Amino acid sequence: MATKTRSAPVRRRRSTVETAFLTCRVLRHAWDVIGGGDRRPEFGTMTCLRCIRCGTLRYDRYSRITGERLGPPAYVWPDGYRDSELHDMAWWRHQWAEDVYAKRLSVDGLDGP
Ligand SMILES: [Zn+2]
Repeated sequence: MATKTRSAPVRRRRSTVETAFLTCRVLRHAWDVIGGGDRRPEFGTMTCLRCIRCGTLRYDRYSRITGERLGPPAYVWPDGYRDSELHDMAWWRHQWAEDVYAKRLSVDGLDGP
């Protein structure tokens, strides 16, 4: 009688870029102000921010007089960042949790995970 062996699941190691995307989806972007950027607003003032992890760009328009935000920010995402499968936050958090656990950046409680 042949015996069936069970192999351990193969986990592909995530690239640095994939890890950055995961981290930003779960913890949100880590913005750094980089200046006016390559766009000019029709009115108000524009500031460009770049995520220090994934490179996403964010353009904020606001009034320097009142501080009021003028419309929603505009984003430019790096290739591969957009989620074409529309996963929910629980799915992203699970992926991220597995990633940080595999890198020994988290610990389980005494009762288990
Ligand atoms: Zn980011």
